[in-house]
Amino acid sequence: MRATNLCAPTLRQVPADAEVISHKLMLRAGMMRKAASGMYTFLPLGWRVIKKIENIIREEMDAAGGQEIMMPILQSDELWQESGRWAAYGAEMMRLKDRHGHEFCLGPTHEEMITALVRGEVRSHKQLPLLLYQIQDKFRDERRPRFGLMRSREFIMKDLYSFDKDEAGMDESYRKMYAAYTTIFRRCGLNFRPVEADNGAIGGGHSHEFTVLAESGESAIAYCTACDYAASDEKAELKPLAASAEEALPLEKVSTPGTNTIDTLAAFLQIPRERTIKAVAYQDDGNRLILVFVRGDHAVNEIKVRNLVPGAAELRMADEEAITAVGGSPGFMSPIGIKRGENTFILVDATVMNMVNAVTGANEPDFHYKNVSPKRDFGEVQVGDLRLVEEGDACPKCGAPLKMTRGIEVGQVFTLGTKYSAAMGATFLDEQGKENPMVMGCYGIGVGRTMAAAIEQGNDEHGIIWPRAIAPFELLVVPVNAKDEAQLTFAEKIYNAAKEAGIDTLLDDRKERAGVKFKDADLIGYPLRVTVGPKAVETGEIELKVRRTGEVHIVSANEWLGKAKELLAGL
Ligand SMILES: [Zn+2]
Repeated sequence: MRATNLCAPTLRQVPADAEVISHKLMLRAGMMRKAASGMYTFLPLGWRVIKKIENIIREEMDAAGGQEIMMPILQSDELWQESGRWAAYGAEMMRLKDRHGHEFCLGPTHEEMITALVRGEVRSHKQLPLLLYQIQDKFRDERRPRFGLMRSREFIMKDLYSFDKDEAGMDESYRKMYAAYTTIFRRCGLNFRPVEADNGAIGGGHSHEFTVLAESGESAIAYCTACDYAASDEKAELKPLAASAEEALPLEKVSTPGTNTIDTLAAFLQIPRERTIKAVAYQDDGNRLILVFVRGDHAVNEIKVRNLVPGAAELRMADEEAITAVGGSPGFMSPIGIKRGENTFILVDATVMNMVNAVTGANEPDFHYKNVSPKRDFGEVQVGDLRLVEEGDACPKCGAPLKMTRGIEVGQVFTLGTKYSAAMGATFLDEQGKENPMVMGCYGIGVGRTMAAAIEQGNDEHGIIWPRAIAPFELLVVPVNAKDEAQLTFAEKIYNAAKEAGIDTLLDDRKERAGVKFKDADLIGYPLRVTVGPKAVETGEIELKVRRTGEVHIVSANEWLGKAKELLAGL
């Protein structure tokens, strides 16, 4: 393609409403424009990137046995009523009515529709496994759309659904998808990690998030320095820290005026925070009181709390009345003396149970207990892994220290089991002629998000640095002065030779100043640039410049193509 035929309106200024780098650079590089809040039009360069990512996804889904289909975006409420999610989905679902008053939504996901399809088509175990996917726009009514493609209201997703006859089959489909996702993100040239994820409301089963590593990422990830363990900070499992070998001293109540935080308490008693026990009091949506105790220097992981209390969906900080009603005192809490009851949960982190001679609240304003040994003093409590992972914690697999990093979730795989098939009657006849619900999995990739994540991971002060596989063009040919007929002719020869060699190439034949063209080239981020200047015409010398490293190679007209191929192979 020629730049004179390309709609790529680059901007020198940073757009005012763009907060994150990928959003700023996609606007500045002329890849997309805002259509409305959380909705974007892809311009030719951006759409080329999307298409390249989609093609990689398609090839790997097909290689793993997936079959592409296309379902409607508009979905009737009836199927969602069957699964029970019409009410449960909440405000994020884009809902609308047709002229007859029938209710619809713009699909945020397609479990219901595909389960309904498959229940009508599959009768026998001989038709399983079945892996169906689509690449399509999805909708989410974000309260506050922002960060460009990272949190938009309309977004492109690949969603695949697997149907198997049993759990073993589902696990096999899961393994296939896990392997395919690994190949997809590797082929996209991204630095990523599959991390163990919390399965949240879906329950049961297992789940991995594929996360592109970037400092600007929304998710915190803990990963092992020695083995392949990696998990989201919400999921990362922690073994209790070793028990203290100290001799337990007798419990003692001490006056600690005004010390209702761990920091003021530690300062007042002149002890390290790790000798104290911190209390956090929650109430769930059923107003049940959940008291959580972790070591003073640790943080509570609310996901783990919710997983330990059956039915606790939403947690909020507890009201003072709820705490005092069970004999507690806000800011001075401990399990000692709290009234037990079926609507009161006392959860203690396993590390706390290993402490000896610790300090905790006395359930009385301005008083604490010293020499607390939880095993001896706490009475009946529920013990579990409740704390949030920190850098340096031990890997649950091998014990080596964990490191923390940040990333952007671009894909997720999870097992669904029979959640939808049982609710919606998607059954098949097994070898014995018995009717069973199909066992499902679902697997998503955010296509636009993958594009944004690639930019968050690859950029510098000049612009985007694309991995070759998903760059809008692999190679850019720039005649320094396109008004010079000889230079332009030379550049066209180079351009034609590159195209014939199968290299995805753009010729910047615009009659702009060289500086403008070079700035645009760096901003848009073509992996490799060929510069054709006066010297090319005189002596046949051409300059090759690698965007990622800035390295420059001066090569002759005979050797440039070989060198370009060699350089591109490494990009
Ligand atoms: Zn490890």
